[in-house]
Amino acid sequence: MLGKTHITLGMASALILTLPGSASAVVTAMAGGALGGWMPDLDARHRDKAADKVRVREPIFGKIVNAACIAAFLVLDLVLGKGMCRYVVDHWGIPPACALLALAILAYLGSQTEHRSFTHSFLGMALFCAAVWFFCRPAAIPFTIGYASHLTADFFNFRGLQLFFPLKRKYSLKKCPSNGRVNQILFWICLGLTVAAVTALLAIAAFAAG
Ligand SMILES: [Zn+2]
Repeated sequence: MLGKTHITLGMASALILTLPGSASAVVTAMAGGALGGWMPDLDARHRDKAADKVRVREPIFGKIVNAACIAAFLVLDLVLGKGMCRYVVDHWGIPPACALLALAILAYLGSQTEHRSFTHSFLGMALFCAAVWFFCRPAAIPFTIGYASHLTADFFNFRGLQLFFPLKRKYSLKKCPSNGRVNQILFWICLGLTVAAVTALLAIAAFAAG
């Protein structure tokens, strides 16, 4: 699947599974889900196009939109003032600093590995999610949901995932290419679900607040 599909799938999954009860928690769920959904494809520059049978590289415009989308959540979180940024500032110390360093190292290592190997494994998922947990706890569960949604979606593609990295064996259901009609349909469904979930959750939060 392409980045935009993983990001919307991560957001929709995180919103629906965590049902956040305030505007800042909605932003945290969307940011964590989007980031978790996007993170495993850090390794995408090592993509082997032939293996997916079709051209899978995302256009540069799409990458810019994806990055802008995640950056917008962080700005919104900062403006709302009660979410992830506030948590990081209030809990800053040695453990979150080490976790941030670990995240940077993992991201670098992930970007250097073969596509669908380390970052698309249970080991990679556990390490990334643990680092997010120690860095910014409120974002950890949405991030984990987003990450798991990415591996689940990729599992249906032709190209296998090294789920038990460093073991070499690859697993997939080989049902669809990563950039075909299924990718497009899933993107629109997840976008619709995200918009509907945000509208409903914000309405409920506003109603509860009186
Ligand atoms: Zn992937």
